[in-house]
Amino acid sequence: KVTDAAQAKGWNLYLVGGGVRDVLLTDESDPLLLQDIDLVVDGFHRSADDRAGVELAAVIQQMYPDVSISIHGEFQTAALSWHKDPIFSNLLIDIATARTEFYPYPTANPQVEASSIRQDLYRRDFTINALAVRLTPPKRGEFSRKGDLLDFFGGLIDLEARQIRVLHPNSFIEDPTRIYRAVRFAVRLGFTIEPQTEEYIHYAIKSGVYQELRISDRASPALTTRLRAELKYILQANYWKPALKLLAKLNALSCLHQDLVFTKALAWQVTCVSRWMFYIDIPNVQPWLIRLEILIAHLSPFDRLEVAENLQLPKDSLQRLQQLEILETEVAPQLLNSQLPSQIHQLLQIYKPLTLILFAARGDKNIRHILWQYITKLSQVKPLLTGNDLKKLGFKPGKLYKEILDDVLAATLDGKIRDR
Ligand code: ATP
Repeated sequence: KVTDAAQAKGWNLYLVGGGVRDVLLTDESDPLLLQDIDLVVDGFHRSADDRAGVELAAVIQQMYPDVSISIHGEFQTAALSWHKDPIFSNLLIDIATARTEFYPYPTANPQVEASSIRQDLYRRDFTINALAVRLTPPKRGEFSRKGDLLDFFGGLIDLEARQIRVLHPNSFIEDPTRIYRAVRFAVRLGFTIEPQTEEYIHYAIKSGVYQELRISDRASPALTTRLRAELKYILQANYWKPALKLLAKLNALSCLHQDLVFTKALAWQVTCVSRWMFYIDIPNVQPWLIRLEILIAHLSPFDRLEVAENLQLPKDSLQRLQQLEILETEVAPQLLNSQLPSQIHQLLQIYKPLTLILFAARGDKNIRHILWQYITKLSQVKPLLTGNDLKKLGFKPGKLYKEILDDVLAATLDGKIRDR
């Protein structure tokens, strides 16, 4: 029905991007259920058809009233979803108008205009993502037929050779997120990065365009958002470790900060954080964010915050990174000198568990031992008396309450008093 609607308007409709790649990679005996479907409407360059994708989405909504549409991007793309439908609730269809992109300067936000399907595929990241399947029948004079695979840039050969290849040498200069995407696809699909493409990565990183990204106002929010999204993808996937290793090998972490690395010690710290989070129940935790914080924490306190702010990390993250400095410089020596559980409690009680987990991953064995005791035992201890008990005992509510309750808690922690 969707293809009929496009055909009735005189448009060509294509399935493009990751969907085509994944269908071709899937073993036929192992059917694939696509959840993210990218469609492109080729509106034949007429500027009146710039909004072809959105118009087609509106037609689909008329046919399926349950569908919700959201329009995003400067060059309008319609996203269709079926939230209310129990079977299709995970299905997401993006419909875009075929477009071409121009980068006014490296790493800028691209400017876009309507184009043919070939131009649309040429703006894409890798050959394996630049394949399309034609869904509408041809019009007179057109060569490709319905169901034809459009492969202008050798995507099929690269799929067979299991390699990631860019479409043109400037690809990474234009958009650094493509380096992260190359790594993500390589690790996820078990592909290699084709040698020439790897050269382009090295060239782009050495060129220094990304250094400007960090310090200048030119770092467009849209680019930072995309870079952050790619990092999130990688850090929340089960392949985060090999992906970070490859990013480090390509020196691509330097897009975020020149001193950012991924060493064995850091890999250990990230694993340590993951283990602690597995045992300690913390609501609403985002493991990818904590992994990123561990990487950033390796930098100097000033640089940590700069990177975190550039990546628009949430306030919680910034606070954790700030507190980490105090914990490491001021609290750690005092903790190691503490004789009594109440002293440990006193030093750590203002910090949230997640901050302490970061601190644990970065601290030495003795610090980790103390923090484990604190998080799993000491922080759970309650004073044997409450304010109500004090009231019953005849104390007037006031400042004294807190002092008494603190003293009772300290005595309880140190085993000086016990519940009967
Ligand atoms: P995944 O299975 O991870 O979602 P995908 O290929 O569908 O893989 P998306 O991020 O959904 O990836 O992007 C859809 C398509 O848009 C890609 O296949 C690619 O053609 C194109 N694309 C996405 N990001 C970029 C980029 N930074 N530069 C060029 N093309 C891109």
